[in-house]
Amino acid sequence: MTIQKLATIRSYHAHVYFDGPEQRRQAEALREEIGARFSVRLGRWHDHLVGPHTRPMYQVSFAPGEFPRLVPWLMINRRGLAVLIHPNTGQPKADHLLHALWLGEILDLDAAPLPELDEAPEPAIELNTDPKLTP
Ligand code: ZN
Repeated sequence: MTIQKLATIRSYHAHVYFDGPEQRRQAEALREEIGARFSVRLGRWHDHLVGPHTRPMYQVSFAPGEFPRLVPWLMINRRGLAVLIHPNTGQPKADHLLHALWLGEILDLDAAPLPELDEAPEPAIELNTDPKLTP
């Protein structure tokens, strides 16, 4: 294994999963709370399965500097939902399957759609620059 520099982490994703109407309501409430408190980009709702994900979810993108604020908050406020947190280093397969951490239930991921290398890195994060609440 080669040692990778921390600077290879360009951003992080938190994927918030939900199963059924009650969990979707919890996911909605959590999304509002995250948007009000943190400098993040809230992704679209995926009520149908997309990419490697085996349960409906939405994605939250954030810069490395937000990690020590957002991730501990999610640990204690995730409303029972499964959350996958992974870095974006340009290696989607490793980022999801080897470099990730889970909060709560650990779900299966489908490795098939994940390329080894990211050919089209995501555009710079357009952040929520106006959180309304303190963490
Ligand atoms: Zn992701």
